[in-house]
This record gives sequence, structure tokens and C-alpha cells, in this order.
Amino acid sequence: MGMNRFVGKVCVVTGGARGIGAAIAHRLGLEGCKVAILDVDREAGEQRVKMLSSMSIESIFIYADVSNEDHVREAIDTVYKRFKAINVLVNNAGIGFSGKSLEEQTLDEWRRIIDVNLTGPWLCSKHAVRYMKLSGGVIINIASTRAFQSEPNTEPYSASKGGLIALTHALAISLAKYGIRVVSVSPGWIDTSAWQIPPKGSRLSPLDHMWHPAGRVGRPEDIAALVAFLASDEASWITGVNIVIDGGVSAKMVYLDESVIEEGLAMLFQDRGVGKMFRELIERLKSYGSVEEAKKRLGEILEKL
Ligand code: NAD
Repeated sequence: MGMNRFVGKVCVVTGGARGIGAAIAHRLGLEGCKVAILDVDREAGEQRVKMLSSMSIESIFIYADVSNEDHVREAIDTVYKRFKAINVLVNNAGIGFSGKSLEEQTLDEWRRIIDVNLTGPWLCSKHAVRYMKLSGGVIINIASTRAFQSEPNTEPYSASKGGLIALTHALAISLAKYGIRVVSVSPGWIDTSAWQIPPKGSRLSPLDHMWHPAGRVGRPEDIAALVAFLASDEASWITGVNIVIDGGVSAKMVYLDESVIEEGLAMLFQDRGVGKMFRELIERLKSYGSVEEAKKRLGEILEKL
């Protein structure tokens, strides 16, 4: 990689035991940063620190639930006592949502997601700032493209990430006087399988990759590279903003026409040929001129199946 942008610096990465957070911890560590991982997965956290240490990255694991103020206060104090500085905070820990309908969602479920995904970053920022203001620094919040776009039944998650983007600009303005920059990053679909403990094989199909204008689903390393840039002095004029990193998916305009149906069916059947055949069928049915005639022909085809 050949870059040493964080020699002598200290970062805190929440949820750094696994997934995107682990890739961020790894990347910042490779560039010379001392790394503190705060996580609720003790086994994975201890394992991750062993892996980092084997690469000569100075790191510690601290058990902390980011939604618990006592945990956060103590963890941040421990990091400062050990490393004598906190320069970068990456608020990455987050949880997803089961996808229940609005009527089935419970207040406890809503609160838990808001607690971890939104209150957590607020608490970690509040306590880290006690030390970050001594030297200046950078806070990076890991939001999501789901702050801007939704599938059905994702209210708590989407709202937590939208809130995190608003928290980002609020913090950026409040903390500017300490020389602290605050930025959020909104990833699209990231395949974290290789960064789990133990690592898992990817279950993605070629068509999952094809849907992305960049030609592939994202990797934790993509997010880590952006976070490393944003945390570095090269990004010293960037604060208060959100940066989308999604392989182009949210820029892609989607109208419900033949090509979308073809792509959708190809993805559903995991076969491009099936998508093409359905498209051909649609073209033929359209050529019959009247809807009634098309329906009749389609009925005949279904009868034969
Ligand atoms: P992951 O489940 O692989 O890892 C999350 C880590 O956070 C785990 O180590 C977990 O133990 C830890 N964690 C969970 N709750 C915690 C808590 N209360 N306190 C401390 N640690 C806690 O998830 P991931 O896919 O790597 O996601 C990381 C972040 O990126 C999340 O904020 C997620 O919302 C966001 N994100 C992920 C994707 C994606 O496609 N994977 C897309 C957009 C945004």
C-alpha cells in the first residue's frame, strides 16, 4: 500500500471485530494507526486483535455496547489511558432490522435500532471529544444508502441512518472550533463474508454483481479505503457532508420497462438466458396489437406448461 498517513495516531473503531469495521481497523492499522476496537462480540474482537497484532498493528479490544453510556465512557477512558490520544473515531457499529411490517414492529425493536445505530454514535462522539479536542481529529459515521432509499418494512433502520447523517452535520458545526472534522459515509451493498470470524465464502451470483454500474457488489476494503482518505490530512477541507459509496446503484434510474423486467427475472432465476426468454415473450405478446389477444395467447402458453 505504501502509505503511512496515521503513524503516531490513535483510532477507535466501533463494531471493529467483524465486517466493514474490521476492514477499517485493518486499513488504518496498516497505515500506522494504533487501533482500539469496541464491540459486543468478545470472541471475534479478541480474535481480530490477535490478527492485527500478528501484522505488527498495535491494537486493543474493549468490550462495549455503544448504546450504554457507562460502557462507552469507560471504554474511551481506557483507550486514552493506554494510547495517550484519540485522533480518529469511526462510528461503525450497527444492527439491521428483521423486516417486519409497520403494524408488527414493536416499540422495543424500534428503540433498540435507534439506540445502537444513532444514540451509539452520539454517545461515542460525546465521550471521545473529551480527548479528541486536545489534538483535533476526525469522526466518521458509517450510515447507509438506506438513509435515502428504502425497501418496504425497514423504517427503524432507514430512520436511524437518516438521523446519523443529520447528526454528522450537527457535530461538524459544533466541533469545528476544536479542529475536529465530522463526515458520514453511506455504503450501498457490501459483501462482508470474507471479514467475518471465521471468514465465510461469498454467496453472491454474477447477476448480483451485474446490477451494479461499477460491475460488482462492494467489499469492506472499498469502504476502508474511503474512510482512510477521509481520516487523513488529505481530506482536511471535507467536513459536515455525507459521501455515498455504492458502485453507482443509487445513480441508476429505474423505470419499469422490458429491460428492468429482463434484468429482474435474470436475477430471480440466476440466469441471463431466462431473462432474455421472458423479454422475447413480452415483445411477442406486445406485437399482437390488442391486450385481449395477448392475454389469450399467454393463456394458451400457460395451459401447455
Ligand atoms: P456486521 O454485522 O458484519 O458487523 C457489525 C459489528 O458491530 C459486529 O462486530 C457486531 O458485533 C458489532 N455490534 C453490533 N451491535 C453493537 C453494539 N451495540 N455495540 C458495539 N458493537 C456492536 O455488519 P457490517 O455489515 O459490517 O456493518 C457495519 C456498518 O455498516 C453498520 O453500521 C451497517 O449499518 C453499515 N452498513 C452496512 C452495509 C452492508 O451492506 N454490509 C451497507 C450499508 C451500511
